Amino acid sequence: MLQQDDIDALRSQTVQPRTLLINGDARSSRSGESLTVFSPIDGSELTTIANAGVEDVDEAVRAARVSFESGVWSKASPAERKKVLYRVAELIEKHALELAVLGVRDNGTEIRMAMRGEPGSAAATFRYYAEAIDKVAGEVAATAVNYFGMAQREPVGVVGAIVPWNFPLMIGAWKLAPALAAGNSVVIKPAESASLSLLRVAELALEAGLPAGVLNVVTGRGSVTGEALALHMDVDVLAFTGSGTTGRRLLEYSAQSNIKRVFLELGGKSPNIVFADAPNIDAAVEGSVNGMFRNSGQVCVAGSRLIIQKSIADAFITQLVAAANALIVGDPLNLDSDIGAISNEEQLHKDLEFVDIARNEGATLAAGGSRILEDSGGYYMQPTIFTGVDAQMTIAQEEVFGPVLSVIEFDDIEDAVRIANATPFGLAAGVWTSNLTTAHRMVRSIRSGVVHVNCYGGAAISLPLGGMKQSGNGYDRSLHALDKFTNLKTAWFSH
Ligand code: ADP
Repeated sequence: MLQQDDIDALRSQTVQPRTLLINGDARSSRSGESLTVFSPIDGSELTTIANAGVEDVDEAVRAARVSFESGVWSKASPAERKKVLYRVAELIEKHALELAVLGVRDNGTEIRMAMRGEPGSAAATFRYYAEAIDKVAGEVAATAVNYFGMAQREPVGVVGAIVPWNFPLMIGAWKLAPALAAGNSVVIKPAESASLSLLRVAELALEAGLPAGVLNVVTGRGSVTGEALALHMDVDVLAFTGSGTTGRRLLEYSAQSNIKRVFLELGGKSPNIVFADAPNIDAAVEGSVNGMFRNSGQVCVAGSRLIIQKSIADAFITQLVAAANALIVGDPLNLDSDIGAISNEEQLHKDLEFVDIARNEGATLAAGGSRILEDSGGYYMQPTIFTGVDAQMTIAQEEVFGPVLSVIEFDDIEDAVRIANATPFGLAAGVWTSNLTTAHRMVRSIRSGVVHVNCYGGAAISLPLGGMKQSGNGYDRSLHALDKFTNLKTAWFSH
């Protein structure tokens, strides 16, 4: 059980300046440069991280390649890899509170969410792929009798991973665990505003027995460190979660370099559709609020377009606004806070700009809209709701990645489908109805990777998450994620 005293004992511990982790060594960047890390809780300087340049990234990729070629991990038996990854999961669990508090000081997620969503989820992910790795086999094909044809799975080699700041451990583990389980060596670049907890997990992985060079961490700016990794000629696969703008760049970098495979999990503008026959309106209100505002809306699958049937719109909106206004926004390390801080100052300003744009385009501000708790020095924003939103407005088309919900009204199921699909994104959706036919029709008609029915969120590691349209390609989670990190080698034997 999470106790405030335990959190408070960790919240003000000094965080030592952090280094890169290359070939098992903790070291500064070659240039000696570092970046200051500010805590979104109060805007104070938390520590520094190394600012890796092209040379550092090159050394990290080389270390990964050498470890891969040595076979120390890539040729270890699945049973041996399983043992080490299990130990990683155990160590993450053992250090769960330390990791969660460190992560929250870095990125501002409310601690209750962070405990579940970060170390909790990362440990479960490592355990899932540890268990999976000796159960996923290749194929023996149907061939003419004088041939034996098979396809076996091989690790791809060196995997580059670039991850964002909203859930560094959860999303980091979605890339690391299947990539490592499959026998690859990895270079991971966390976001500059949330590197600390992933660096700690990499140390724990070494402690768990992962050989040096198999997991390397390079920190620094996306435009330098991330770009160097994405352009590197010796990275075989790049796995990314982040913005569409960066995702597009990564595809270009691949084309400009070695045509590495690039797997993207990008943004969303996910529709959450409430029909008048929703089985439980209170549950729909609660699900809509949680599906939107947890982690201040900094969630790629956030249900950021509430699409509500006209006949119940007024009553539903009244309840929704009351529920949003009742959320306690505050110090993310306080167990009483429902919502923590916006992860970084730049993002807070982007969120507030969207509020201005929505107002100027004629949407009605029904809740929130402002920065709060400014005296704390931290970056906090009220849960914000716009009503009277037209499906074509900027606020209904572009991902805010902050606590801003757009409410759009619809007449009938055709109208709901049309609005739901009227964005360039296709990541997630929600449908609230007691009519089974409506539910099935919506699941079939909505172009998104996941559709939640009478709930929003709560996905398990055993099911895939992947975007359609401009929300990305490839799948995180589930056994399907292993496809990104394995080659299929075909062999023909004649006899
Ligand atoms: P967000 O807007 O959520 O910060 P980004 O796509 O900018 O999303 O960031 C996600 C990750 O991509 C971060 O680790 C960031 O440093 C990295 N990144 C940003 N720009 C680039 C780039 N040009 N090349 C490679 N990585 C980048």
